[in-house]
Amino acid sequence: GYRSRAAYKLLELQGMLHDKAGKVRPLIKPGAHVVELGAAPGGWTQVAVNLAGPEGRVLGVDLLEMDPVPGAEILQGDFLDQAVLDEIRARLPDFGRVDVVLSDMAPNMTGYKSADQGRGELLAECAFEFAEEALVIGGGICFKMFQGPGFDELVRRARLEFTQVKTVKPEASRSRSPELYLVGLDFKGAR
Ligand code: SAM
Repeated sequence: GYRSRAAYKLLELQGMLHDKAGKVRPLIKPGAHVVELGAAPGGWTQVAVNLAGPEGRVLGVDLLEMDPVPGAEILQGDFLDQAVLDEIRARLPDFGRVDVVLSDMAPNMTGYKSADQGRGELLAECAFEFAEEALVIGGGICFKMFQGPGFDELVRRARLEFTQVKTVKPEASRSRSPELYLVGLDFKGAR
């Protein structure tokens, strides 16, 4: 079993994109090196470790403390904190390369709609910039997104920088939740 219901979303998102012949193009391939933002309690981390397999590597980052996931490295801290970003960057040379960046980060909701939306967008934007900086050419992303003014702009940027892009609401998402995921494959490099 998985630690979170979110795990089933990643399993769905993993098989969301197809080639012209209709064959699935997986997001996380065996051997993939994966950086995961907003990892706690670790459902996605478990899925990523399974999909990447023994040759893969997974680094999970979260504000919250989480139980270790065998096969994954965990870093506790705020991804929006410069010191934490520097710590991630410092670990990357040993990590080797980054094939996939995942973000399921979500702000703690205040109930103030535009503030919550703004903070959700900020997390997605920062994850996107990190992906632009860290990904290898050919790499992939899967980000939780919140609908709002900045949403279209981020999707537009993704379409410029990735060959194949899709926004999806997984079946495993609660129907009332406004969350969507942005999946991108074949990073072409930042503009
Ligand atoms: N994908 C996870 C799973 O399968 O278990 C669930 C992730 S949960 C929906 C969102 C997580 O994002 C929370 O654990 C929260 O602490 C984390 N988060 C939110 N803002 C963050 C930030 N600035 N830096 C790091 N983690 C953050």
